Amino acid sequence: MANEHPESGSNFIRSIIAEDLAAGRYKNVVTRFPPEPNGYPHIGHAKSICLNFGLALDFGGRCHLRMDDTNPSKEEQEYVDALARDVRWLGFDWGEHFYHASDYFEECYRYAEKLIIEAKAYVDSLNEEEIRAYRGTVSEAGKPSPYRDRSVEENLSLFRRMRKGEFPDGAHVLRAKGDLSAANMKMRDPLLYRIRHATHHRTGDAWCIYPMYDYAHPISDAIEGVTHSICTLEFENNRDIYDWVFENCAPTIQIGPEKGQRATSKQIEFARLNLTCTVVSKRKLLKLVQDGVVRGWDDPRMPTLAGLRRRGVTPEAIRLFTERVGVARANSTVEIEVFDGAIREDLNLRCPRMLGVLHPLKVVLTSWPEGEVDWQDAPLWPAEFGKEGSRKVPFTKELWIDRDDFLENPPKKFHRLAPGKEVRLRHGYIIRCDEVIKDEAGTIVELRCTHDPATRSGQDSRKVQGTIHWVSASHGVSVEARLYERLFAIERPDAEDNFLDHVNPASLETVTAWVEPALAEATPGSRLQLERLGYFYVEPEDSVAGKPVLNRIVGLKDSWAKEAPAPQKKEPETPTKVEEVARVSKADRSREPAEQAHFLALSAAGLSVEDADLLAADAELRAFYEAALALHPSPRTVAAWVANEVQRERKTLSGSPDAKTFAQLIARVDDGSITRPVAKELLVEVLNGAAPDALIQSRGLGQIGDRATLEALVAKVLSANSEKVNAYRGGKVALFGFFVGAAMKESGGKANPGLLQELLKAALS
Ligand code: ATP
Ligand code: MG
Repeated sequence: MANEHPESGSNFIRSIIAEDLAAGRYKNVVTRFPPEPNGYPHIGHAKSICLNFGLALDFGGRCHLRMDDTNPSKEEQEYVDALARDVRWLGFDWGEHFYHASDYFEECYRYAEKLIIEAKAYVDSLNEEEIRAYRGTVSEAGKPSPYRDRSVEENLSLFRRMRKGEFPDGAHVLRAKGDLSAANMKMRDPLLYRIRHATHHRTGDAWCIYPMYDYAHPISDAIEGVTHSICTLEFENNRDIYDWVFENCAPTIQIGPEKGQRATSKQIEFARLNLTCTVVSKRKLLKLVQDGVVRGWDDPRMPTLAGLRRRGVTPEAIRLFTERVGVARANSTVEIEVFDGAIREDLNLRCPRMLGVLHPLKVVLTSWPEGEVDWQDAPLWPAEFGKEGSRKVPFTKELWIDRDDFLENPPKKFHRLAPGKEVRLRHGYIIRCDEVIKDEAGTIVELRCTHDPATRSGQDSRKVQGTIHWVSASHGVSVEARLYERLFAIERPDAEDNFLDHVNPASLETVTAWVEPALAEATPGSRLQLERLGYFYVEPEDSVAGKPVLNRIVGLKDSWAKEAPAPQKKEPETPTKVEEVARVSKADRSREPAEQAHFLALSAAGLSVEDADLLAADAELRAFYEAALALHPSPRTVAAWVANEVQRERKTLSGSPDAKTFAQLIARVDDGSITRPVAKELLVEVLNGAAPDALIQSRGLGQIGDRATLEALVAKVLSANSEKVNAYRGGKVALFGFFVGAAMKESGGKANPGLLQELLKAALS
């Protein structure tokens, strides 16, 4: 698909910023990443980090790293250090702009006194429960606290005594005078300060009152001159408080070239990243660590950046992934497979190929002369990479192959080793299995085989259908390999009452593997592909010289599922193991005659084998597919959506899914009106019968991605600014941002920014 990720590199926040710059609202973009140091950063934070630092980089602004440390009881220096280290590891630099909300406690306090003096805040002495009761409900206005009308003098005196430590925790709070009938409950006299006699990891015992997030956050943003305060959707209702603080405290900027100016900033919310089979909540991750379910925050099964790094995932892969999932305004859950895909894509190019065996089965070549070693020169990279580099692989009388690559009674299309069958050994010879040796319990312990001396690799003699990997038993090296699987085997562990009950007991399998001798010399921290098995990381801490420990980063791609040709086509000559298992289990599984007829018809219409297989077996889904297809005749696309997305979501629907609105939605993706992630966000609502066009319109989700429309728009903007165009062509290239902003504004913020910039560049050159 040419346009799989049209949103990468562009998003609605970028459009807002471009527009702000164009309108002259800000000269310089300042963002911040504001974690609370109460845990290690995880893949969800990575999205926020990449977004905030990425925007600053793109617009030539700056991004601050700020510890949001307003809650003394849960915060620790260990977490501060982890956050800073991991942001840097991801590839971002905050320069000198590393701050703490606790740096601003004095300022927060000063502004609070100002609010009290201006009668905009008061000390309330109701307890927590009473405050809640007085606040009212969604349908009922709040009641004023009996303390709401305290005099300025009394408020000031009480607040000062709170600071001095004269009251126990909970005795009083400071509240803003909001609007007790506001529809937004958060505006019903929000809390600004509370008493907390606790030692803070930085300020020690200097304070016993601490500002609330809602108050400290806008003050911190203001002090730092932040222009775009980007946060996740759950803070949408807090935006009114954010704006209230800016308006009523009228803070001034204290950092950077704008120092001394009145601060203005806008809060923009985006959807959190959620991943299937994963929990991304620091509280839950902490629980996994505390309960010893994992070895620590950096256990390779953890979705923390420390864990991913320890597993061998690169920062580039994480950045690729966050870019790929895009930035949206509606919450959704991204499939973990998308992350795996980004990891593989990154590793494919950087990993040399080597041979190893994870579950060894001995092969003895009766035809091979005792003691003879044939050292074959084997390239480290696939030929199409055009990269130099090879190593010597020893071929010997006794070898290891993987147990899965032999079957005593194979199904028809098993193209690996079986009694009487031949297989090619990669960088070796074709061998034939003559005899199977078993122990007393009937377990296969050895295969006796013969090799064909005329088939040495590179001699390109005859072909056989399968190629498998192997390692010399006499020259190979045994190593520890840690095979990581998903920590949760279910899709939505987050949705469960007790997520700990769903930890995958098989999330780590440690095996003694055999690897080729060249691999024994691999440096800790390097990465490689074991052919047909996956990508591996030479464990940075547990490996010793000559004895690497291998972490499996990710298995190889199941390319079969999505890209396989119709089943009757000739198979590739050396299918990977995953491919072959998929083929045996899916395409060739036996079906009832009626189901088989459906399968063949669906395959003939061009569906992938997986989709055809699923729809053939599920009458309800198939009927839905056919109804949608009648309205949007694009079989492969419709089937892929039905087999994957609809299939997953149908349990959550209120009734049966609406094929008409669904077909309209898919049509909107196909004609480029919306991106795939947007369609996924809307899916459940649309399946429940909501008209996609109305949703797209009312939420402003449509994008203008049409080249001709954008070209016309660009031309219009350039002709309206001919002087600037001349200046640009005369060398004032800094004007490019102006043109982007102006054109974006002209499009109402809907232009596909990537395409827009491309067209602008072309038109200006
Ligand atoms: P958690 O729920 O894991 O404790 P949090 O929101 O409390 O997360 P913070 O340390 O307050 O964690 O988050 C720092 C920044 O990272 C915030 O701007 C927050 O919105 C963002 N963030 C946290 N989790 C995610 C996520 N899953 N996807 C995107 N951004 C996230
Ligand atoms: Mg938080």
